Amino acid sequence: MADANAASRSQFSSQISGTLPERPELVLVMDLDGTLLGGTLAQRRQFYSWLEDRRDGVLQIFSTGRDLAAVRSLLGGDNGLPPPTPHLVIGDVGSTVACGLSLETVPIAVDPIEAQWQAVQPLLDGHLEGVAGLSPQLRNVERRYAFNYEPQVFDTAILSRLELLGVDCLLSDERFLDVLPAGVNKGTTLLRLLDLLDLPHGQVVTAGDTLNDLAMFRTGLNGVMVGNAEPKLRALHPELENIYLAEAHGCGGIAEGLRHFGLDCPV
Ligand SMILES: [Mg+2]
Repeated sequence: MADANAASRSQFSSQISGTLPERPELVLVMDLDGTLLGGTLAQRRQFYSWLEDRRDGVLQIFSTGRDLAAVRSLLGGDNGLPPPTPHLVIGDVGSTVACGLSLETVPIAVDPIEAQWQAVQPLLDGHLEGVAGLSPQLRNVERRYAFNYEPQVFDTAILSRLELLGVDCLLSDERFLDVLPAGVNKGTTLLRLLDLLDLPHGQVVTAGDTLNDLAMFRTGLNGVMVGNAEPKLRALHPELENIYLAEAHGCGGIAEGLRHFGLDCPV
């Protein structure tokens, strides 16, 4: 088993640019919009500098609904104050895994998801066109479909019919619908990544703010729900294990959560 773990880690490492921290003291898995990109400018500046200083000891993973092009434009500085480059990116709500430096996908992690999507995508033909209150997002999403929906117009009854075809339908932030291969989400992709990299679960902290982060919060891993979490996610907090509900928003909430879990984060 130890040999198998070492082999998958070494194969993974050969498929990315740069190196990952050998034995990270913390694996920090952060949603972007509303989480790592949230909080005051001062909190963000301080927290980004804290991350930058700990690049060798903290394995930093973005876990986002953004596609890789949207992550690239963020890291390119379009946002004014870009966060530091992560080691790895889980993008497309769990259907993409990429190297943080090159933003190239990592085949060992993505190929099984690609195969699943190729099998299910043709079955969706004709089901998602012309649906009232649903408009496709004009983005380069991969291994999923992404829509905006109007809560007052869109009839969610279609979702259970779609799921019978072999997909999961994920509503979040009262405006986004993602259609993903069944079982693929931010939580399962993270667990698979930890497995591939042979990383201990006890060192992981996740952070997020909308319903597309719920799958991470249901893994049993330690997590931080930031103070600006959407009401439907916040309402589920009492039933989640190991999830700290922060008062502070965005970055401030992540830092508050890290202190809750006993880590030295002064922001
Ligand atoms: Mg978010």
